[in-house]
Amino acid sequence: MGKVIGIMSFKGGVGKTTAAINLAAALYRLGRSALIIDGNFLSPNLHLYLGLLRPEKTLKDVLQKGIAPENAIYEHACGIHILPCEFYKSVNFEKFHKMVLSLKEKYDFVILDSGPSYTEEIIAVLISSDELLFVATPDYPSLASTVKARKLAKFKGLPIRGVVVNRRKKKRFELKNSDIEKTIGIGVLCEIPDDNSILKSVKKFSPVVWKYRRSKSSRAFMKLAKVFFQG
Ligand code: ADP
Ligand code: MG
Repeated sequence: MGKVIGIMSFKGGVGKTTAAINLAAALYRLGRSALIIDGNFLSPNLHLYLGLLRPEKTLKDVLQKGIAPENAIYEHACGIHILPCEFYKSVNFEKFHKMVLSLKEKYDFVILDSGPSYTEEIIAVLISSDELLFVATPDYPSLASTVKARKLAKFKGLPIRGVVVNRRKKKRFELKNSDIEKTIGIGVLCEIPDDNSILKSVKKFSPVVWKYRRSKSSRAFMKLAKVFFQG
């Protein structure tokens, strides 16, 4: 039985999709199977990062038309599997949850990417996750959104593994990890540097941990994956 990790923050552009892709690919490098599901139902874009420009079948076909999830799952050259989504307004939470439970039996890790909005859509990801991983950038707007996410997660009684501080530039104007931890009451698991290798890897429709293994961000994602690898 695998583990379902929900990647969350109530803010766009902080690196949720980047973290989902690279955590999955890093776990694969460590010898674990990993599937990413696009849970950003209102503005899905996971597939675009991985070169799957027009997926023939998506999560919507699985939940609405009842096709087998396997028929909408694609394998990336780096070894990870993805279940893409197209714009999908009223996701049936229970059906989504059931599908995730069935996929959990087939993978070591199922990673749920999520949308940036504090809307009903997030419930599908929340009820289907075994634990959450927050992603934040070291600034106040991102921190404030993470506080909101933490409140909702606590309300739902979901364990939170920690926070990934992304796009760290090591500038004095950035929030320190100690401030972040104090404000949200959750530990910082790792820092991912602001790194052009990530942008270069996007151009190659690939995870940075696969295309630029020696880059700083790749090493940081491998460190993050080891936390989950160890259980
Ligand atoms: P979200 O899913 O939270 O909206 P994304 O993962 O789509 O955020 O990231 C937003 C943009 O920032 C993308 O262009 C991505 O390539 C870029 N990005 C994410 N993390 C980093 C980083 N550590 N260094 C450089 N660029 C990054
Ligand atoms: Mg995203």
